[in-house]
Amino acid sequence: MIYLDYQATTPLAPEAAEAMRPWIEDKFANPHSPSRWGSEAAAAVEVARGQVEAAIGLKGGSIAFTGSATEALNWALKGTAEKSSRSRIVTVQTEHAAVLDTCEWLKNRGADVTYLPVGADGLADLEQLRAALDERVLLVAAMLVNNEIGVIQPAAEIAQAAHDAGALMLCDAVQGLGRVPIPQGPDLIAVSAHKIHGPKGIGALWMRDGLEPAPLIHGGGQERGLRSGTLSPALCAGFGTAAKLASERRDADADHAERLWQAAWAALGPGWTLNGSAEQRYRGNLNIRRAGLDASRLLGELRSLAFSLGSACASGSGRPSHVLRALGLSDREARSSIRIGFGRYTEEEELVTALRLIAEAARAQDNLAA
Ligand code: PLP
Repeated sequence: MIYLDYQATTPLAPEAAEAMRPWIEDKFANPHSPSRWGSEAAAAVEVARGQVEAAIGLKGGSIAFTGSATEALNWALKGTAEKSSRSRIVTVQTEHAAVLDTCEWLKNRGADVTYLPVGADGLADLEQLRAALDERVLLVAAMLVNNEIGVIQPAAEIAQAAHDAGALMLCDAVQGLGRVPIPQGPDLIAVSAHKIHGPKGIGALWMRDGLEPAPLIHGGGQERGLRSGTLSPALCAGFGTAAKLASERRDADADHAERLWQAAWAALGPGWTLNGSAEQRYRGNLNIRRAGLDASRLLGELRSLAFSLGSACASGSGRPSHVLRALGLSDREARSSIRIGFGRYTEEEELVTALRLIAEAARAQDNLAA
């Protein structure tokens, strides 16, 4: 199989697997128990915490580990809404379901939610954002790098606009961490290990000091009483090591993605159109469409390749992607789009092989239709 679905998840880095091993095998103590073994596990968790915080790279805040970025985003939105006397949330139509569905949940409980449109390039319009902001807005939620189309939102400017209105800014940096710098400005940042070559089942919420949301999960008081539940030293160690590697290799990984991007376009040949901005974009995400293509059929025909039709969640639903629809694409164009994601462990040769197979299968569909 040739794996080209890096936005859905990334292969575990061997270094992260190695860092996890002792905590899965014989060092099984509870990191919250006072024994010497427990303290050793707790120390490993703290090393990992420092590594994830260093990769985020912002001062004046700290993280709490969560079970996923989905949990972190739920927590940020619900926990901030609970603490605030304000009742409006502003977000963007192209956010991940973890933000959009949580906003809908809050809306059913009385919040007023504005979903900002994006342009054909996938970028939010700052003027429209400013026009939507007033003293009733508690939080603006916007992602850094879009998981479906790879476009990079102006997160620093969005945070500034939110602050000017006295609101907080929540940034979903799941696809951005280790790939593009996280700008100064956000007050809450959600990240996930499995998108940066770490293990699945762990994420984190970075919180500016004093702006911690009310807890979502109650119990043993772990994570400074903010997020109860026994931490997994293995998952933390894997996340920490992956975060450290992502920081160390950011330039090398970006150069590699750029080379792959160029090779991909050369291999595809004519007839393909890029979805979303070509400039404000992470180059390890190639979301493209072709007139008349039946993308789900293509996916079914090429079972030796792993690529997708959009987000992993949208691929299963049969519904056209809400992100592509927000760019102004018709249902038909959205259903003619595929997402190819590549990165650190993708070899140029396998990418070119895969894209030639995709281009050939797409041309065969053209011929059938002719
Ligand atoms: N936000 C974005 C942009 C994502 O791509 C994902 C994963 O698909 C998530 C949030 C949710 O992350 P997790 O899988 O850790 O719940």
